[in-house]
Amino acid sequence: MSEGDLTMDDKSKMPRTTVLEFGGPLGALFLPVLLPCTVLYLLLACRTKEASVLSSPSPLPAPSELWDLDAFLLVLGWFSLQAVLYMLPLGKVTQGMPLQDGTRLSYRINGLHAFAITSLLVGVGIFGGLRLSSVHDRCVQLAVSAMIVSFSLSAFLYARSLCVPESALAPGGNSGNPLYDFFIGHELNPRIGSFDLKYFCELRPGLIGWLVINLAMLMKESELRGSPSLAMILVNSFQLLYVLDALWHEEAVLTTMDIVNDGFGFMLAFGDLTWVPFMYSLQAHFLVSHPQELAVTTAVVIVLLNALGYFIFRSANSQKNTFRRNPSDPKVAGLETIATATGRQLLVSGWWGLVRHPNYLGDLIMALAWSLPCGLAHILPYFYVTYFTVLLIHREARDEHQCRRKYGSAWNEYCKRVPYRIFPYMY
Ligand code: NDP
Repeated sequence: MSEGDLTMDDKSKMPRTTVLEFGGPLGALFLPVLLPCTVLYLLLACRTKEASVLSSPSPLPAPSELWDLDAFLLVLGWFSLQAVLYMLPLGKVTQGMPLQDGTRLSYRINGLHAFAITSLLVGVGIFGGLRLSSVHDRCVQLAVSAMIVSFSLSAFLYARSLCVPESALAPGGNSGNPLYDFFIGHELNPRIGSFDLKYFCELRPGLIGWLVINLAMLMKESELRGSPSLAMILVNSFQLLYVLDALWHEEAVLTTMDIVNDGFGFMLAFGDLTWVPFMYSLQAHFLVSHPQELAVTTAVVIVLLNALGYFIFRSANSQKNTFRRNPSDPKVAGLETIATATGRQLLVSGWWGLVRHPNYLGDLIMALAWSLPCGLAHILPYFYVTYFTVLLIHREARDEHQCRRKYGSAWNEYCKRVPYRIFPYMY
């Protein structure tokens, strides 16, 4: 969004958002229907022999089969457990980026603690006889329950955003169109006391939930075939590494677009609570009913591909984070930079001189490595890498727009020096 995208109603009010994303009100009407249907469609397709994304999975369950009170209570219990873990006085408290009025919010960094305690509880549960594999059997009902929670939370968020001062609204979610603002997020940092709803949802229930679902799929496969397959172990390990990395670098989430710019509405609530846990675990889910024989050499190649993706992803993110924290740090002090009118500099060598989003490149290489253990016979396990490519291309365009607004001609100079966005010599 550029400054020209905003108009002031009067000086005391938050600027109106005039450039709308995701197709504006039409997208805001369409996506809350399309996304839940996609989740259901893929979960159901994943369990059929054909696992086809092109023909309707049949027989379709009756609507009454989609609802299960126990599944709903389990989902509520899961969110409550994560909320309690978030509130524990463990880990450090850090400051977020400055808000429009110059103040900063405090955030507790204890995602790894939450993960460790959850792992302990799940481990104790399994040794105590908990049949985690039943998550596979009830996956559709669990997803429907997560959707109900996501929609209810979005409605609550929009309702409360109507009662907060205008300074608390998200610059990108103040269009005045209720449907659009509900979808994109009207309030920037909704909090109940010190409990930050957006920050809580961003990493914990969804990301840790994704790992628990993956583990449940591994347990189900072991139940069916005696032991987990190499393909299942690879998918579980790769995604465990990814989530642990996100939790280890939890503080970095405070500088992301999601926390700094985007309001908290349907888009993030549904994405964090339903889409991530149920769609990102699709490969493990697929492997339960579509076992794959993976030769050791193929597995080694896939491991190397994931390692390459992770190396690029982590080095690029760390390079930028180190540079933003302390440009004179010896690790980044030798890199070439461009000065900007804001006083900040842009890296123009190292990873950020290769393409303008090297971290996305690494993320996409990993996404491919997560799908390859599922073989080449089906498209469905490649849904993640396909969707993620679209998401990151769109996200890159949104970030580019914001960087051009922030840095003006310096950004144009950067684009001239580093012409490719994500894929070297391609895009
Ligand atoms: P980035 O970490 O890519 O940050 C973009 C920001 O970096 C820009 O706004 C700018 O901010 C700064 N920047 C851009 N170019 C330069 C440069 N040359 N030199 C110095 N600073 C620069 O943003 P995201 O939040 O999109 O991504 C974070 C990570 O999360 C990525 O690795 C991404 O792959 C991953 N991700 C994963 C998702 C998933 O579902 N698995 C979804 C979305 C993201 P400023 O100048 O203000 O510092």
